[in-house]
Amino acid sequence: MRVLVVNAGSSSLKCQLIETDGKVSLMKCLAEKVGKDDAYMSISFAPDFQKSTYSVSGLSVPECLKRLLDILVDDPESPISGLGQIDAIGNRIVAGGEYFSKAALIDEAAREKLDLCEDLAPLHNPPADACIDMMRSIMPDTPQVAVFDTAFHTTMPPKAYVYPLPMEYYEKYKIRRYGAHGTSHRYAAQQAANLLGRPLRDLGLITCHLGNGGSITAVNHGKSIDTSMGFTPLEGLMMGTRSGSIDPAILTYIMRREGISFDEMDSVLNRESGILGVSGVSADMRDVLDAVKAGNEQAELAIDMYVYRIQKTIGGYYAAMTRTDAVVMTAGIGENSAELRERIFDGLAHMGMILDKKRNDVTGEIGVNRIISIDDSPIKICVVTTDEEMRIARETSDLVSQMM
Ligand code: ADP
Repeated sequence: MRVLVVNAGSSSLKCQLIETDGKVSLMKCLAEKVGKDDAYMSISFAPDFQKSTYSVSGLSVPECLKRLLDILVDDPESPISGLGQIDAIGNRIVAGGEYFSKAALIDEAAREKLDLCEDLAPLHNPPADACIDMMRSIMPDTPQVAVFDTAFHTTMPPKAYVYPLPMEYYEKYKIRRYGAHGTSHRYAAQQAANLLGRPLRDLGLITCHLGNGGSITAVNHGKSIDTSMGFTPLEGLMMGTRSGSIDPAILTYIMRREGISFDEMDSVLNRESGILGVSGVSADMRDVLDAVKAGNEQAELAIDMYVYRIQKTIGGYYAAMTRTDAVVMTAGIGENSAELRERIFDGLAHMGMILDKKRNDVTGEIGVNRIISIDDSPIKICVVTTDEEMRIARETSDLVSQMM
């Protein structure tokens, strides 16, 4: 099945055209800085993925998607010559609230429920919904599926998802932990079960998605029972530009002392904090690791804090589960940084997570998952490569096939 995956953000659009039978990508597209004067969109086609770049200044996110469709139809290099050659559309939706516990085919009822979720991710859900509407108007007969970042976490028990606030806020506004990166955690857990050669339902796993954003999930017998991101992706680990968990009283203190608005505070926490805020170097882990090598003390502190918070979260989830069979590392940092994996697991050997330094140092091939703990480590350590767009395409084709 040929699936167009649409991943719309507040100022970005990532798309891929994926042939799910052969698991191959036919087209990749990335639009960034959407809404700004210097907004651009790069598009590339298989097999060599040479990028062509277009200005998309003045266009909204759904308008960028429309532009991509026009290029897909017109470009002689494109793998398709008409929109009829796209069999299904898979949309990544950040927040599904309490309405969606799995991927959903978008019919009238699902579309109405999506409206109710917009408040939960005001930056991400509205542009994604606008893309769905645009595609429905252009390709009304092509099935569309919504794949939710939150769906995997709907199995959490109330003790993990209710906040210790007056219950009226949960009842009135549905303020609770929803988590994120669910597609990635689910996939990482299943891949680890395959690596261990045991059924997922028998295992206790701690899955660590460490990219620009980061979250850790306790996956007990295949179900998410707790996760570090919360009502929004701001909670939990220290991230590229997000603070992660801090004392909430700091917010009001800074706002009063600096005389800044809610929006400005939101921006400090989401865009200026984390690795970037502490290191003063960059949000990109590679730059910060380079700065550490050059002797930058702030960068060293940022890395120390980043690692420490991951260690504490892994330890917390070890306590939350009835058993722990493996810790699974995935996403940009989890997959690629042997140095950070070594720093993280150096502190966790006493819990029975014993890294094999040689296995850890091997640069994995893309798409090849592996175990990097010593043979008799009581708890295994796995590295799993993630590909969010591919997983969304697979979930979409599975659901659409069931409907046919
Ligand atoms: P996103 O959350 O945007 O999908 P990714 O999963 O691609 O992000 O992760 C991006 C992060 O991974 C960046 O901080 C980048 O520096 C880091 N990263 C990628 N490769 C390496 C590497 N070899 N060593 C250290 N960090 C890396």
